[in-house]
Amino acid sequence: MTMIDTDARTTDPMVEPATAVETASAATDVEPVFHLRGVRYVYGRRQVALDGIDLDIRPGERVVLLGANGSGKSTLLKLLDGIVSPTSGTMTALGRDIAAVAGGLDAFAFHREVGLVFQDPDIQLFSATVFDDVAFGPLQLGLTQDEVKARVDEALAAMEIAHLADRAPFELSGGEKKRAAIASVLSLRPDVVLLDEPTASLDPRTKWVLVTLIRKLGDQGRTLVTATHELDIVPIIAERVVVIGEERRILADGTPESILADRDLLVRANLIHEHLHEQGRTIHVHPHEVDEHHPHDEATHRHPI
Ligand code: ADP
Repeated sequence: MTMIDTDARTTDPMVEPATAVETASAATDVEPVFHLRGVRYVYGRRQVALDGIDLDIRPGERVVLLGANGSGKSTLLKLLDGIVSPTSGTMTALGRDIAAVAGGLDAFAFHREVGLVFQDPDIQLFSATVFDDVAFGPLQLGLTQDEVKARVDEALAAMEIAHLADRAPFELSGGEKKRAAIASVLSLRPDVVLLDEPTASLDPRTKWVLVTLIRKLGDQGRTLVTATHELDIVPIIAERVVVIGEERRILADGTPESILADRDLLVRANLIHEHLHEQGRTIHVHPHEVDEHHPHDEATHRHPI
């Protein structure tokens, strides 16, 4: 794991040197999908959401952006999706200058390749039926009806919601809405899928089903970037974890195992509570091969802390 000291960078002897990167990002011969240097984002004039982000994400990586509420995860996803551009710093996505994409240059082509699933599925579901919502993107591509239908069927199958095609989005449960929202992004066949808090406010069983589906998306070779503060889903959906601290900077970058084993880091990032930590009670999160009948469904792998 690379621990990143946001104040003293390389001068603190407690900090491992930045060469100790254990993740796929160390493979520098591959052109990154996302390349950020010194990226800062400020809402209005004063609300700093991100403050000096250096990050490379390479094709096919399954990355979790792990941070407490308000640490800047959603803002970072909006930057990766070219919805907004950095206030300062440099950033490219798929080799394009993200400021140009955010300004509209080649934006449609960009969004065929990079899709963002918002935390609130109602933002993505606005048609009379799920089918129409999932067909919306492919229709914009000018595909034939048969091609559009094939895309929709494929996306609904990936989210295992073919049976919901004719339902109105407002009739769906929270978990079904999430799956429909993801399908509406998948129907463009993006190489890169960005997910913002996909399991927020889902009951444990629904959450587990969704995590299993997300895992499958990553297994199919897509670049997958998921923002969450939920530790229990991390080992299932990620091979690399980037921790964003409340200082709105990257605190650490490493494997799920190394990040989740570092309780001091998790306390510092407000991902576990210091009081519980000081009592010496442990969190126990461990990766598993997933299937839908996993016996830990109810516990979602996280033992009480
Ligand atoms: P997270 O996704 O980790 O919860 P966000 O990216 O949503 O974090 O927010 C980061 C910071 O930016 C927070 O302090 C939040 O209050 C602020 N922020 C987010 N959106 C806006 C906005 N539209 N206007 C002003 N401040 C915002």
